[in-house]
Amino acid sequence: MNLSLNFTLYEFTHTDTGLANDPPDAAIDRLSLLALSLLQPIRDYWGPLRITSGYRNPAVNQAAGGYPTSQHALGEAADFVPLNADMDVVFDWLVKMSGLKFGQCISENKKRRRWIHISLPRKGKPNQQALIYDGKEYRPYV
Ligand SMILES: [Zn+2]
Repeated sequence: MNLSLNFTLYEFTHTDTGLANDPPDAAIDRLSLLALSLLQPIRDYWGPLRITSGYRNPAVNQAAGGYPTSQHALGEAADFVPLNADMDVVFDWLVKMSGLKFGQCISENKKRRRWIHISLPRKGKPNQQALIYDGKEYRPYV
């Protein structure tokens, strides 16, 4: 099932944990919005992206070490790695130039793995929030 021109539902639900990870319909709707409004425009500009994590049901989220309140658990967030572009450049573009409306955009670095986390805007919480995570703490990106 395609969510947008270049993204399939499978890319957002596939997990290496071996656990079942089928999203409910409401989460599929949010993943569609996530793909259409954020990942596809990023892909259009920077070329192919590898989605390393999208939707996570509670068991998968726990296995991934995610917070229970993670937007991943709602289908509102994805982690990705640009395949043909520098991650720092893409991250800076997302925050300062892209004009895309997001909840959080986080440059994450954990156990020598790096990726960008991006999520849909949130109700009642800060949006356009840009953070750097070094595996220990979050700090604002300016
Ligand atoms: Zn994430």
